[in-house]
Amino acid sequence: MKRLVILGAGESGTGAAILAKEKGFDVFVSDMGEIQSPYRALLDQHGITWEDGHHTESLILNADEVVKSPGIPLTAPLIVKLQEQGTPIISEIEFAARYTQAKMICITGSNGKTTTTTLIYEILRKAGLNVGLAGNIGNSLALQVAHEDHDYYVIELSSFQLDNMYDFRANIAILMNITPDHLDRYDFEFQNYVNAKFRITQNQTKDDAFIYWSQDPVIDRELKKLNIGATLYPFGGSEDTGNAAFIRGNDLIVNADTTQAPLTIGINEIGIQGKHNQLNSMAASIAAQILHIQNKVIRDALVDFKGVEHRMQYVTTVRGVRYINDSKATNVDSCWYALEAMTTPTVLILGGKDKGNDYNAILDLVKQKCTTLIFMGLHNEKLIDFFGSTGIPYVSTDNLHDAVQAAYNAAKEGDTVLLSPCCASFDLFHSYEDRGEQFMKACRNL
Ligand code: ADP
Repeated sequence: MKRLVILGAGESGTGAAILAKEKGFDVFVSDMGEIQSPYRALLDQHGITWEDGHHTESLILNADEVVKSPGIPLTAPLIVKLQEQGTPIISEIEFAARYTQAKMICITGSNGKTTTTTLIYEILRKAGLNVGLAGNIGNSLALQVAHEDHDYYVIELSSFQLDNMYDFRANIAILMNITPDHLDRYDFEFQNYVNAKFRITQNQTKDDAFIYWSQDPVIDRELKKLNIGATLYPFGGSEDTGNAAFIRGNDLIVNADTTQAPLTIGINEIGIQGKHNQLNSMAASIAAQILHIQNKVIRDALVDFKGVEHRMQYVTTVRGVRYINDSKATNVDSCWYALEAMTTPTVLILGGKDKGNDYNAILDLVKQKCTTLIFMGLHNEKLIDFFGSTGIPYVSTDNLHDAVQAAYNAAKEGDTVLLSPCCASFDLFHSYEDRGEQFMKACRNL
């Protein structure tokens, strides 16, 4: 019997364990942290052996194959040992995909993944397809493959998942953009991160589709070097350079399906607004047209979709000041888009766990739009160093309550208070969702 060891028992690890058990593997699950009780219960229910709080090497190094949670870095000592002894290490997505014939629609990029993934899922559901949502959002792919196999999966893939994918083939791969992020996990080498993102195209043939933002300089540079097997569907550039979706005047046009006329929709009719969301809408609509979903269905979904929580989410207005929760802006580029969309003077709350950020990218917009900066983190020194010289007033805080209060004190009627932190949340919060929830609660209590 083949021994499969699963490292990390969150949503993906638990799902992988259950699928593996059903496929007849000798399964062992090990988590360095505490396994949450619902997952523990699921493992017990399926008769799967597990441990938490430590890794017992003798029970792990004898694996034939290891499924690693994307949260565990490749540099963790146990992972290094496994690599040294030649044990294959794969991701849950790679494992689950071996057991399904479903069509895989996969989305990656530095920003816009969740929005685009959710939008595609909504379009496919509206079209009546039997579709599952997986990857960074939704339920584990492996668990769905085990218990409710779908005909289509829309899968959000992070670079960490892609790091351990080898034979997986995406029928439709989407790359939204590439800007520096997670450099702490890539030896501070941007190219390593870029290479991870491009793994989404590996194993693709001309029957498959690669959808990408044609105006991204990094993607453009890589495409000149690489030989992509898939049929290419660029978007967001000009109509005459062969883009499959583009803006013409006030319309968004999608022309990726020769069996129907192009889809034309007014940009103001689309439920999610802002330039970045036009790009997300283009990518999603191209994917839908490739699947020959009717334009009417795509249009209805674009109109109805109101976005995902913690992404430029309106919270409340207090004394004429609007409060916006963009807690999911965990890198500098997403904050750039948030600032770009601001139409009033802005009090910006930023800070948290820095991932090797270069704040130069937002400097001009900060100077143009921000009246006050509120730093919220355990280590604000880098922010103070960088933005201190701009002359823009700032307040340094180390908790959410003080940050919101400082923003409230600084904002004038007509201003916007924007939480768009550029950083991960783990210094002060459990997750970006926790940060967003706490922020919204504090704003509503003002
Ligand atoms: P991801 O899942 O890649 O983190 P999300 O859809 O959750 O992306 O959006 C995260 C943040 O990135 C949002 O708060 C928004 O401000 C910004 N954003 C969304 N789409 C894009 C895009 N296409 N390009 C740049 N920034 C974007």
